[in-house]
Amino acid sequence: MSSSVALRLPSIDGLLRHPACLPLAERYGREALLSGLRQLLDELRLSVLQGQLSAIEISPEVLAGRVGERLTQQQRSNVRRVFNLTGTVLHTNLGRALLPEEAIDAVQMAARYPLNLEFDLASGKRGDRDDLIEGLIRELTGAEAVTVVNNNAAAVLLTLNSLGARKEGIISRGELIEIGGAFRIPDIMARAGVRLHEVGTTNRTHARDYEAAISPRSGLIMRVHASNYSIEGFTARVPTAELAELAHRHGLPLLEDLGSGSLLDLTRWGLPAEPTVRQALLDGADIVTFSGDKLLGGPQAGLIVGRKDLIAKIKKNPLKRALRVDKLTLAALEAVLGLYRDPDRLAERLPSLRLLTRPQADILAQACRLQPAMAEVLGEPWQVSAVQALGMIGSGSQPVARLPSAALCLRPQVSKRLRGRCLLNLEAALRNLPIPVLGRIDDDALWLDLRQLDDEPTWLAQLPQLQVES
Ligand SMILES: *Cc1c(COP(=O)(O)O)cnc(C)c1O
Repeated sequence: MSSSVALRLPSIDGLLRHPACLPLAERYGREALLSGLRQLLDELRLSVLQGQLSAIEISPEVLAGRVGERLTQQQRSNVRRVFNLTGTVLHTNLGRALLPEEAIDAVQMAARYPLNLEFDLASGKRGDRDDLIEGLIRELTGAEAVTVVNNNAAAVLLTLNSLGARKEGIISRGELIEIGGAFRIPDIMARAGVRLHEVGTTNRTHARDYEAAISPRSGLIMRVHASNYSIEGFTARVPTAELAELAHRHGLPLLEDLGSGSLLDLTRWGLPAEPTVRQALLDGADIVTFSGDKLLGGPQAGLIVGRKDLIAKIKKNPLKRALRVDKLTLAALEAVLGLYRDPDRLAERLPSLRLLTRPQADILAQACRLQPAMAEVLGEPWQVSAVQALGMIGSGSQPVARLPSAALCLRPQVSKRLRGRCLLNLEAALRNLPIPVLGRIDDDALWLDLRQLDDEPTWLAQLPQLQVES
């Protein structure tokens, strides 16, 4: 207790002038240092009064060290790079598609300089930002017209509101889907001011179901690509061409929300078939909506393509202004679309496609190459093996299809009772690395799917810093 009388915290002024603090002021600025010191001293005051701290613990050198650590932490960006070894390529929580170099250059240019975002350089008059990508999208999809918004959810909302407000939207029960993050078709319809008229049943909907629902109150027919689940067995779905014919016979537009909406037939790269935007339009859909950062492999965006008169109506909606894309997105999108002009080289140049088409043998060879380093870092209690694994495309594309991949499988060699805790500790340790490594826990093991491990040297270099709590 006697020490509580003797010890006093150093003064803020004294600390600010102390040689140990001068480099901190230089590096982080005087304001940041001052507020860091104030916080720290406030926190320590009580402990000092109660005599819980020694003279060393409140010496200017130690306090400067502690404030320095905090300032470093605060300076670290909240947006951080990670290694996505989850096995899901287009991972919504990890930012979906990675941009090709061409798009990164375009984003840099758009960030650094003024540009013709809404300015027509030919006439010198005001332009429309959609014009920057309209030509390319028309060429790649066969659409008459195009408009782009912030994401596909916005595209669906805007389209529904523009074409179906205060009327009924007819949709099959089997397509009333929920996509992660609270995007539910019935809710979006309601917010768009469209009255939901569901037809058919969960597993089977026939043309006659749609036909029976059509009335003077009808505004549109909607079709949603059931992207994140699959209905199998006794099912029936009206082909788009037949549904389009039916809609047009009654003077209604057919909207198709494709979700991922691929621009090219992916089977040419050995991937599962996904409906293409061009085919949906050929089949007679009047408007097709799809994401920019799913299978397209570009920036987050929602593309609305289709009939010229309907696109014009959509563009007049004041909501369009609220949902519009920014210049960085447009710059990236144009560059990505440009790569589609040369499909033969697309798989080399577009990262998402390159990763999706990486051969399993190649990934397995990488796993074998990295296995010894991982085994050495983890040591005794872990069995580390290079094994075949199954990944997925992600973002709702092909929910049941699996991509043959390979992984490092990390298995704790401990009693069953301790395994769960062990795995969680390892998972946390991997997350704590300077560039967090994210895998997945399954079947009593932690799996690092290597399909997306491009930057092997960086990954290996930080491995010795792994500290697993036991
Ligand atoms: C992913 C998806 C959406 C939402 O797209 P975002 O670009 O994430 O806003 C809408 N509809 C379907 C069918 C989808 O798969």
